[in-house]
Amino acid sequence: MMCPFCKHDETKVIDSRTSQDYVIRRRRECLRCERRYTTYEKIEESPLKVIKKDGTRIPFDREKIKAGLEKACYKRPISAEIIESIVAEIESDLYENFDREVPSRDIGERVMEALRAIDHVAFVRFASVYREFKDVNDFVEELQPILREFPR
Ligand SMILES: [Zn+2]
Repeated sequence: MMCPFCKHDETKVIDSRTSQDYVIRRRRECLRCERRYTTYEKIEESPLKVIKKDGTRIPFDREKIKAGLEKACYKRPISAEIIESIVAEIESDLYENFDREVPSRDIGERVMEALRAIDHVAFVRFASVYREFKDVNDFVEELQPILREFPR
């Protein structure tokens, strides 16, 4: 994001929030001239990239989070509406807290936290479900320390 004052291309996000219609309002500060300005970005215009553990980047895909949640919640008393709202919450949280790239680990932690709050079985199941998605989201290993806190 280029500074409108001095054209420097490094800024830091000092505040951001998601409003309606997938618009993210970001308060930015130029790292060179330190002037501050606000940007309004449509989520589809600022696609997030996911940094996998091996360092490769793949486009962020909310459907992958949803698929993982659905598997973890299979035959659990959790409605499609709840799953959809968790996905939406995680998605907007990611867009608020990450500018361009998000480590896969951060996505995994958010999913874990959401599941921990709603269903213990789904929570524990989540890691094993994601082993099947290893090529897509390989954060299982990084989640092991968290899982150990919750013995089956
Ligand atoms: Zn500047």
